[in-house]
Parts: sequence; C-alpha cells; structure tokens
Amino acid sequence: MKVFNSLTRQKEEFIPITPNEVKMYVCGPTVYNFFHIGNARTFLVFDTIRRYFEYRGYKVTFIQNFTDIDDKMIKRANEEGTTVKEIAQRYIAEYYKDADALNIKRATVNPRATEFMDEIIKFVKDLVDKGYAYEVNGDVYFETKKFKEYGKLSHQNLEELEAGARIDVDERKKDPMDFALWKAQKEGEPAWESPFGLGRPGWHIECSTMASSLLGETIDIHGGGVDLTFPHHENEIAQSEARNGKTFARYWMHSAFLNVNNQKMSKSLNNFFTAREILQKYDSEVLRLFMLSAHYRNPINFSIELLEQSKAALDRLYNTIGNLEHIIEVSNEREPSEEEKEFLNKLLEYKNRYIEVMDDDFNTADGISVIFDMVRDINSSINENSAKKVAESSLNLIRELGEPLGILQKSVRGNIEDEIQRLIEERQAARKAKNYALADKIRDELKDRGIVLEDTPSGVRWKRI
Ligand SMILES: [Zn+2]
Repeated sequence: MKVFNSLTRQKEEFIPITPNEVKMYVCGPTVYNFFHIGNARTFLVFDTIRRYFEYRGYKVTFIQNFTDIDDKMIKRANEEGTTVKEIAQRYIAEYYKDADALNIKRATVNPRATEFMDEIIKFVKDLVDKGYAYEVNGDVYFETKKFKEYGKLSHQNLEELEAGARIDVDERKKDPMDFALWKAQKEGEPAWESPFGLGRPGWHIECSTMASSLLGETIDIHGGGVDLTFPHHENEIAQSEARNGKTFARYWMHSAFLNVNNQKMSKSLNNFFTAREILQKYDSEVLRLFMLSAHYRNPINFSIELLEQSKAALDRLYNTIGNLEHIIEVSNEREPSEEEKEFLNKLLEYKNRYIEVMDDDFNTADGISVIFDMVRDINSSINENSAKKVAESSLNLIRELGEPLGILQKSVRGNIEDEIQRLIEERQAARKAKNYALADKIRDELKDRGIVLEDTPSGVRWKRI
C-alpha cells in the first residue's frame, strides 16, 4: 500500500513497525461544542483509512484524543457558570452521539488529556532536564532553536516560520517561536501540582504524551486536519523527538479543508453547519458518500446542492441493492451458466480495481467510481432469471466494497416490506372505519410503487406487478 507522507511530501510504500499492524494516532476534538462538518470530514477520512487497513488484514490500534482542558473550555465553563469537567463530559457524550450516527467506528482508546497529567508532567520535566525546555515563573517553554530539525514537517526553517507567523512578542520567551509546555495557573483556572508549580499543560504536549504512552515512542501514522500541520504537529515532533531521540511518527497524514459554497466556513459568514444539523436532514451515508467522493488530500466544497446529488447517487446504489435482494428471493438455485461464470470473473476484476485504487493512498474518489461502474454492469446483467449465486455474489461484493467507506450495509428489502406491511394495515383500518377514500388512496399509492393487493380469505396479500 502507498501512503502520502506529509513529511517527505511523497507517496511511500507503507511499511509498519510490526508486520500486519498499524499504530495510528489522530488529533481529536476540543470538547466544548458540537463538532462541525469540517471536523466531520477529518473524522470520516481517518475512520475510512482505519477501516481500509482493517479490510486489508491489518490489526489497527486507533487512538483519537479528547482535549478536555484548554482556554476555550475554560471560557465556556465561565460563561455558563459551570466547571470545565462538566463541559467536557457533556460534549464528549455529544461527540459520541454524532460520531456513532456517522457510523464512525469507536477508537481503540479515546484518551483525555486530564487522565494523563502525571505522564504529561514527566514529559515536560524530561525536556527541562535534557536542556530542551526552560522555566520562567511557573511557565515552561520549549526552546525551538535547540531542536535542529524544527520546521521539517512544514518544510520551512525557523527563520522562515518566524517571518510567516503572527507572533505575539512575549518577554518571557527566549525566542518568539518557543512554545508553552506548561502554563502557570491564572486566577480562576483549574490547575495541577507539578515541579514547576500549579498549572496546566499546553495543547501540543498532550498529544505527544498520549501518543507515546499508548502506542510507544515511535508510531506508524499520525494524522489530523491539514490546519494542524503548523504549529501543532511541528511542535509534537519537536517535543517527542527531542525527548526520545527517535522518529516520532513514520507517516504524517493530513486531510484537506472543507469549504462551504466555495468559502471558508465561519460563523460570521452564516455558512456554518454542525454535523448534527446535517444529520437531521440527511442520512449519514449521504454525508459519508459526499465526503469520500473527493480524495482526502483535495479540498472539498460543501453545498446543499452537492449533498442532494450524493443523496441521489446513494439512492441509485440502494435501488440496486433492493433489486438484488428481491432477485435472490425469487431466482433459481441452478448452477451459473458459462456467461454467468464470466460475469463472476468480471466482478472479481472490479474488486481488484477497487483494491488497486484504494491501495494508492486511499483514493476513495476512484474507489467510489469503481463501485458505480460495477453497479451499472450488475443492473444490465442480472435479473430474476439469473442464477441465485450470481445475484448473491453481486450483493456481497457491493457490501464488501462499501464497508471500508462505511456505506451500503443496510437491507432495503426488509425496510420496504415493513413499509408495505404498515400501509396495508393502515388501509385495513381505513376500510373498517368505512373511510373508503383513504383506503383507495393507499391502494393507489402502492400501485404507483409497483405493488398490487389481493384480498384473499386468509387476509391481504401483496405482490409486485
Ligand atoms: Zn494533536
């Protein structure tokens, strides 16, 4: 498999530390709000990468953290007159609701920064002891100049980064690019005991600590949104490699931006959507299909129009699933004909093509195209007269290729039957109540959908026209 490594800016053969295992860490949300669709893209991308590794037989340890102590959280807690802990608990619960609704697999572990305070403090102390960090009045800063490779992920040296960054001059720092590992407690802030006094960790050190505590000093993949490349990931590398003297992550993967109506999403532009708002109107598979229809390294433009297109596309795929479910019920157990055997070979070719494009840096856009090509072929080749085995193989393969994308696992037939049954009962009730207009209306509605009703002595039966 090939993975684009942001560190080398090229596609590289994926070689895990331990054969057939993937240890990956993805930066998770700061839990002070519902997550928006830009965050959702990142979560869906890495969920899909994880699922695809699993599809290819890897055992994946997937860590995604919750940042549960941070300036924004303190602000939120103060605004609401509650504690940071309560805010964290509430929005972690809300995160799981939305992530589960999006069919995002639960991480192996979702560590929380506040659960790793001892390890974080030790990490900071090690950096001070090794001469990479210094203390000023209860704050501890990382001295970027001491880490010679600083800037290697952003592909800029320290001078270029300084020129490009908006730096607030801080007298306490030796260099403007130095960053906080530990922040002394301010009035009214939660704080932990440390050798540097009461305080709390900086954001970057949390991820370095949780990644190495849970996965080891060198991990296979570190992922996150592209906006985290600098300074967050650059700083994670500096801290981890300075302390451990080892490569921190062998592959750095970044998912690109999501724009809304070709503009950056922002509350002030009134184009800001939470994942939950979208999920109230659209099935999660529509959102997944939409997000994965672009390569993860390409920006994606979100609009309701484009989402509608994904909805129509998903409907087409489920139509085929429904047809195949029906054909499996009515078709013949006979052995496949020569022509059908050829079709089974063709299915295998589609599968191989899917694997080929997905192995090439998780090209879900091309993977989805392969599924559509295959479904078109299935639609024109399979009908009620086909051998059951061919219909079954087709359905199984659609589901198999949809699984890494988190789509196409639902049964249509069961749902349709439930719905028809419900309408039949409604019609019966209408007749009993002598509401013949309604009863006829329901019968016509079913007829429009290709269902005819027969009144028999043992009750109402239905069949397809
Ligand atoms: Zn992080």
